[in-house]
Amino acid sequence: MAAEILDGKILASRVKAEVAAALSTLDFQPGLATVLVGDDPASHTYVKGKLRDAGEVGIRSFHHELPPSVAQGDLEALITRLNQDDEVDGILVQLPLPGGLDAQRVVTSIDPAKDVDGLHPHNLGLLLLDRPGLRPCTPSGIMRMLEEHDVPIGGRTAVVIGRSFLVGRPLALMLAAKGIDATVTMAHTRTADLPEVARRADILVAAAGSPGLITADYVKPGAVVIDVGISRSPTGLAGDVAFESVREVAGMLTPVPGGVGPMTRAMLLANTLSAARARRE
Ligand code: NAD
Repeated sequence: MAAEILDGKILASRVKAEVAAALSTLDFQPGLATVLVGDDPASHTYVKGKLRDAGEVGIRSFHHELPPSVAQGDLEALITRLNQDDEVDGILVQLPLPGGLDAQRVVTSIDPAKDVDGLHPHNLGLLLLDRPGLRPCTPSGIMRMLEEHDVPIGGRTAVVIGRSFLVGRPLALMLAAKGIDATVTMAHTRTADLPEVARRADILVAAAGSPGLITADYVKPGAVVIDVGISRSPTGLAGDVAFESVREVAGMLTPVPGGVGPMTRAMLLANTLSAARARRE
């Protein structure tokens, strides 16, 4: 039987509606600052989408564009101003940054209380400690998808392909957290016999950025397959999963586009709401 296709757009609309409903009960309007450096077309598209989402749910946005030649110090000075600006509850610096800029230093200069991408070492540390904090958007979006589709996780085997600090590592921690209780393998470019490792997964997450990497022979029949990859080609967006062949084997499968991407965007709004509430507690 062909896999159930998990529609991220429908679920993201639900999350956005929840955020909008929560915002309507507040006596203030949260603000999100977006910082876009350089002229990478994909980054421009992503930020445009995030600004539109924010407007739709009633979050104020403050958008800043800087040239690719901006000095590290000037970029960090902008972050410092946003940290001090009381109208700004969340700060998002669109990654990747143009060459020559140190993204880690920039992210670390964000006030952890306003770090709505959840990538500041403080927030990643809270995740490691299993304590509440702002979580990275893509992994939280995936966790929400699994939860909404009643995917059993406790005691199951999860294989996460990719070990970036943006997706793979935080997701592996979330899946293994107490109370979630997956048994997690984090695979990467040096993993020996990736198809064999992947076939052990009840939940297989592909976050490698390698289009079509995951073919049917990587997938245990009935497994839940989450495709995080987004690769741009002249023919459009491609995921890490060879969709047509894998859908014949998997039990559930996320599409690209329309799967994890919309959930990532929705979780940014949820994080901005959480940050805004927490700052006023
Ligand atoms: P990254 O390049 O930082 O990390 C990729 C990871 O995958 C690395 O750890 C690498 O070891 C591993 N990897 C790469 N090729 C592999 C292979 N052939 N076999 C095994 N492991 C391999 O990328 P990232 O920032 O983690 O993003 C991964 C992908 O997810 C990209 O395509 C990116 O565009 C996409 N992405 C999508 C969303 C979304 O919202 N859908 C969000 C973030 C990233």
